[in-house]
Amino acid sequence: HPLLIAIDGPAGAGKTTVSKMLARDLGYRYLDTGALYRGVAYEVRAAGVAADDDAGLERVCQTLQLEFRDSRLISNGVDISGCIRIPEITMLASAVSARPVVRQALLDLQRSLGRAKALVAEGRDMGTVVFPDADLKFFLDASVRQRALRRFEQYGEAGKQTLERIEQEIRQRDANDSSRDVAPLKPADDAVTIDSTAMDVRHVVAKMMEHVAS
Ligand code: C5P
Repeated sequence: HPLLIAIDGPAGAGKTTVSKMLARDLGYRYLDTGALYRGVAYEVRAAGVAADDDAGLERVCQTLQLEFRDSRLISNGVDISGCIRIPEITMLASAVSARPVVRQALLDLQRSLGRAKALVAEGRDMGTVVFPDADLKFFLDASVRQRALRRFEQYGEAGKQTLERIEQEIRQRDANDSSRDVAPLKPADDAVTIDSTAMDVRHVVAKMMEHVAS
């Protein structure tokens, strides 16, 4: 069986749900690298640093202490899991993730967290940059509309966001993620691309399992 599985793709493609299910079914650990970028964004905001202030970002990264405890994100000893999914942090994570200083700071952390024997790692550049030697790589995609709909059904109404607002946010994050100079979002050459537009999560996981088993 492949021991290190990389799952990349754009916002809202279902990576998190699918990665967690796959990890659970295989008995592997799960690494949510998007949470790390959100953790950086949280600390950047707390420090009052602007997203394009590289010196400020570097300062924040130097004192950064991010870790996972029972799938909670802990920053400098504080559980910030409940504060990193709000739209403001989401967009700030997208902005700071384009800065090389931030990507570099998280590279070592991701690799050390990924040293576990059996792991499903989820993000934007798992298969291309962080774990280029991953045993199996997936690129999970879906149409923008479908991704916006899923987000809306997940937390849109609770978060008082309209479908149009969510779709706009996803388009903006897509543009940010694929246009940045460092580690732009794209499938690794050896990735298996799965378009989940017309598939439910169970179906996607079953398809991935076929590749795991083959
Ligand atoms: O996956 P999630 O939506 O939580 O990621 C938040 C943001 O972090 C993304 O919009 C993306 O810009 C950034 N990210 C990244 N590389 C990763 C994971 C996330 O640039 N490996």
